[in-house]
Amino acid sequence: MTNDPRRLLSRAVEHAARYRASLREHSGRPARSYAELRERLMGPLPEQGTDAESVLEMLVAHAEEGLMPIAGPRFFGWVMGASHPAGVAADWMVSAWGQNVGYHTPTPAMAAIEEVAEAWLLEILDLPRESRIGFATGATVANATCLAAARTRVLRDAGWDPDADGLFGAPPVEVLIGADAHSSVLSSLQIIGFGHSRVTRVETDGQGRMLAAALETALGKGAGPRIVVAQAGQINTGAFDPFAEIVPLTKAAGAWLHVDGAFGLWARAAASLRHLTAGVEGADSWATDGHKWLQVPYDCGFAIVRDREAHQRSMTQWSSYLPTIGADDRVPSALVPELSRRARGTPVWAMLKTLGRDGVAKLVERHCVYARRMAERLSAEPGVRVLNELVLNQVAVNFGDGDAAARKAATEAVIARVQADGVCFVGGAAWRDDWIMRISVSSGETTEADIDVSADAIIAAWRTVRGV
Ligand SMILES: *Cc1c(COP(=O)(O)O)cnc(C)c1O
Repeated sequence: MTNDPRRLLSRAVEHAARYRASLREHSGRPARSYAELRERLMGPLPEQGTDAESVLEMLVAHAEEGLMPIAGPRFFGWVMGASHPAGVAADWMVSAWGQNVGYHTPTPAMAAIEEVAEAWLLEILDLPRESRIGFATGATVANATCLAAARTRVLRDAGWDPDADGLFGAPPVEVLIGADAHSSVLSSLQIIGFGHSRVTRVETDGQGRMLAAALETALGKGAGPRIVVAQAGQINTGAFDPFAEIVPLTKAAGAWLHVDGAFGLWARAAASLRHLTAGVEGADSWATDGHKWLQVPYDCGFAIVRDREAHQRSMTQWSSYLPTIGADDRVPSALVPELSRRARGTPVWAMLKTLGRDGVAKLVERHCVYARRMAERLSAEPGVRVLNELVLNQVAVNFGDGDAAARKAATEAVIARVQADGVCFVGGAAWRDDWIMRISVSSGETTEADIDVSADAIIAAWRTVRGV
């Protein structure tokens, strides 16, 4: 055992490659539970050091007992990407180079690559090219960043500077948000001082789409600074708000329109799905993820804001010890809450270069085809109902024929059975009056055969639960 860096890093590569090669055979769940691992691993802080290679070996031995195969082909639990090897390799380089991309002048390569990634993202998502993108940890922080920029703009327009003076005494800002918005938007509103409950909830349809007429009515009742939060890709159904109607309503009301499109915004990258997002380019800000559909390793999200001034005002910090900023400089840390941070743009650049526009389009389209295939397979089985319209990559399924309580019990039993069998991983959620099994197809490793094997496993679990 040794502290030789070359040997150490090579061992890490070997372990990583071996793990990734094993994923296709790997079961759909971790071998040991959190409680078991906690019990085994908890120990005193080491008084003396250990050589780095031994530490790596111990880490791998411990961790491999409790890894969820998120990077594998049959993980459908949540919308998660599979950390594509091209992104992992680029991410390793970021760590090895030890770059802190807070400022562009001390880390020119990483900042330049991030700026290229920004331009490519705006192109592939076809969003206004004058926008800036903050490379954040995920869509939650991206939502918070976008909403902070919105707060700056709508309050400055009302004669108040929230960045200097905070929110006490500020003109009230009304936030209008769909009834089926993702929890992270509410968390973002909480973080930026708006509160998660001080919102106007706008009615949605059976798929979770905001009703434009309800938004129009709600906007008609209010006045003053307002922010509308719409959604591309509802977490259970994959549904899209009607942007073509929402955008003009929001504009007419002088409000800021933010779109949470953590995964759904990627429909814009595929010609056959793009219509789902029609009009979304008319919004003011968009949050989306790199670590979901683009398969960038964790963690990576994008805060895309058209209004550069509001974006930078809400995020910039300055101190005499930090590099001087030119008026037109793109300063990576002035676009996200963090000052010091890893060069998240680098794995994004690598993924876009590896897949290309065509590869991303095919990936997204393939997942939507697979989701439909899964839905067709499952709904052919008696007692199984697919509850959502298959517009994207989400399948919401419910099991059993009894009342809502009986269906919930049956659905929970099927989910538990599927997880225990370990062929694939699925999760559950409340949806309308039902409890559903959620199937999210978003792993770059998934093949049609994986869908079929997983559908078989889910049907077998349901038959066991039913006792047939
Ligand atoms: C995943 C998701 C989020 C949160 O994104 P994180 O990357 O987990 O922070 C927000 N909105 C939607 C619709 C999502 O699917």
